[in-house]
Amino acid sequence: MTHVITSLCLRDGGCVTVCPVECIIPGKPTDEWPLFYIDPDTCIDCGACIPECPWEAIFPEDDVPTAFKAKAGQKLSMPVGTAGFTEVYDGTDHDGEAVHLTATRTMQAGEVVDLTPDTAVNAEFFKNGPGYNAAK
Ligand code: SF4
Ligand code: SF4
Repeated sequence: MTHVITSLCLRDGGCVTVCPVECIIPGKPTDEWPLFYIDPDTCIDCGACIPECPWEAIFPEDDVPTAFKAKAGQKLSMPVGTAGFTEVYDGTDHDGEAVHLTATRTMQAGEVVDLTPDTAVNAEFFKNGPGYNAAK
């Protein structure tokens, strides 16, 4: 198994600092790979990253929710060009550095979303995407 970062991720980066095997990689370019991603071949499923995420974006692979219930103000982030994702997010990360994302969407409180497609996206990042070289 592995852990998976879902599209609730807004690139805070706190998870990276606690991972004992350094398997969390920031996606680049952010227009195409807006999230951070977990190398499934390296993750040891320790769970240390989960409480570090201010956006509650990380789940064990088997527990990625099919019906995640959003809190007020929670956002989803997608590759630029994804239909319906037109909001700009400007925030700061764990180190106080600026985060600028241009394809986000603020959810309604109680809105239900399926986060399971993010598992395949995470795997793709390491299989054929830029993570292939970053993690090896
Ligand atoms: S702590 Fe959460 S929001 Fe920040 S990079 Fe990790 S998964 Fe993304
Ligand atoms: S579960 Fe542990 S090993 Fe896997 S990404 Fe999180 S901190 Fe790293």
